[in-house]
Amino acid sequence: MKRVMFYQPGDIRVEEAPIPQPGPGEVVVENKVALTCGTDVKIYKRGYRFEPPFAMGHEAAGVIHALGAGATGFQVGDPVVAHNSAPCNQCYYCKKGQHSQCEDLLFSNFTDGAYAQYQKIPARIVAQNMFKLPQGMSFKTAALLEPLACALYGTEMTPFDLGDTVCVNGCGPIGLMFVRMCYLRGARVIACDMSPTRLAIAKKLGAWAVVNIGETADQALAVRELTEKGRGVDAAIEAVGLPEVWSLALAMVRPGGFVLCFGGTPKGLTVPLDTTLLHYSQVTVRGVFHTTPRHVAAAFEMLKMGQITAEDFAQNEYPVEKIEQALQEHGAGLVIKNAIVF
Ligand SMILES: [Zn+2]
Ligand SMILES: [Zn+2]
Repeated sequence: MKRVMFYQPGDIRVEEAPIPQPGPGEVVVENKVALTCGTDVKIYKRGYRFEPPFAMGHEAAGVIHALGAGATGFQVGDPVVAHNSAPCNQCYYCKKGQHSQCEDLLFSNFTDGAYAQYQKIPARIVAQNMFKLPQGMSFKTAALLEPLACALYGTEMTPFDLGDTVCVNGCGPIGLMFVRMCYLRGARVIACDMSPTRLAIAKKLGAWAVVNIGETADQALAVRELTEKGRGVDAAIEAVGLPEVWSLALAMVRPGGFVLCFGGTPKGLTVPLDTTLLHYSQVTVRGVFHTTPRHVAAAFEMLKMGQITAEDFAQNEYPVEKIEQALQEHGAGLVIKNAIVF
């Protein structure tokens, strides 16, 4: 089979590898669709914290090719989607309900990536975070499970009431999913981005107003002006992963408001903090990472309901040999995501 391996920034290779065999509790999936993700683009350009070479891709859906002993609840031929991680459910953090901080959070990618014709799913993920597709759900839509699970978790970690105003900064795939989830939870959503195409999709997904940051000198002010008396939004979500945008999100919330820092940044960065904002204005800042099994299950329900579909999120299709082109297009913002079809 073919799979994509990372060697160094700018050097990824489509290689031949043996089809994996499932061990106890494991499942081997024949992938039908894998999606590009901002994380893959970052890895392609900058590398990652793992020693290369490693397998790439973590958003895929396909058909069960083989079942290991004791893998229950599924059959060969079932169309499935597997999330890319599962916590241990035994450590201090899992018992505290903070599964994304699990001391032994298992990720399936990097050993068996999603940019591969066949992919082995670890037993723990099969048991916790793998789902059979209902009739009518496309593989492309199913493959949106992982990013949606992250955005859904982030939305639930953001406190706001029905009718509150929430600003989503950044309309990449995750930002657009935030737009949709916040809209469904009853927020008046303001979406910020520099791409008119992305902003048009944000509107389609429920944004009440959009701010093209390329057309305004002061983004925080432009957002504030959309709120009553310019007081600021009730909650601001950062979905870009740039420290400047973390600061910007802080500058657009009202007193007593909430800032969710969702986008991961390179290690070691710091953001200046106006202490009066935290003390006198009682602004809350929270970071979140990844997701939890409860939110993965909820995300799958959202996909079943058709709240997020591939039509808005995955534009072009490429064979695995064209992975670099697919990632470059994604990185250049020409598409929300691309699909690798097998
Ligand atoms: Zn992803
Ligand atoms: Zn744990």
